[in-house]
Amino acid sequence: MHLTIGYLYGDLMNIYGDTGNIIALQKRAGWRGIAIEIKIKNQKSKIKKGECDLFFFGGGQDQAQELVAKDLGESGKGKVVKQEVERGVPLLAICGGYQLLGDYYQPFGLPSKDGKPHSGPKLHGNGLFPAYTLASHDRMIGNIVIESMFGKLVGFENHSGKTYLKKDAVPLGMVKKGWGNNGKDRTEGCIYKNAIGCYMHGSLLPKNPKLADWLLQKALEVKYGKEIKLTPLDDSLELKAHEMVVKKFG
Ligand code: GLN
Repeated sequence: MHLTIGYLYGDLMNIYGDTGNIIALQKRAGWRGIAIEIKIKNQKSKIKKGECDLFFFGGGQDQAQELVAKDLGESGKGKVVKQEVERGVPLLAICGGYQLLGDYYQPFGLPSKDGKPHSGPKLHGNGLFPAYTLASHDRMIGNIVIESMFGKLVGFENHSGKTYLKKDAVPLGMVKKGWGNNGKDRTEGCIYKNAIGCYMHGSLLPKNPKLADWLLQKALEVKYGKEIKLTPLDDSLELKAHEMVVKKFG
């Protein structure tokens, strides 16, 4: 079997070790004899329907997000990604990537202009996640542990944007330690069909093998149209790292 991973703006959106998620998917597939092809989809790329079996969208600074938001809209890539997720293609978006797949990310206005918060240009997202993000003066940094459908998930967050889920949005999980979406409502991330957005850098997948395998399994099931049972791996090392964070923080 073979999977193609669409690495959205992998040249611009890849901070805080997020490329480690691609490596984890590659390794966990490779150890099972599943061939993985990585396609970096940057500003010059097109995305054809059915071309990618899984999308990954990493974090990025505000400047990169401005360029990417513009391209996502103007190139139509944002629309195609949304359509692919609607038919079940799995996606993982972290932090800056997550923010650009909501309705919008509203940075602050230019201080020299009027200093009023949130008077800058809105970075429109593709509306995949029913959520919006406002810039804030809080820098939310630190280890994060949440309770989710995958059990506990551990990661590291570093963001100032605060994301607010709209009615009917389903959070990825509830914060046990850390900030999460906005440091207020204890939600973290959002899940829609087989798409997950969250603030969990780390990288996330190496220390959360259950989530990594869920993404691979969904990608294979959608691509090959049948139920897939992944061969179990020896996750003793991954789970040791996971437990260390849970024990210390969560
Ligand atoms: N620039 C965004 C923020 O600070 C996203 C940062 C990130 O991707 N870690 O919230």
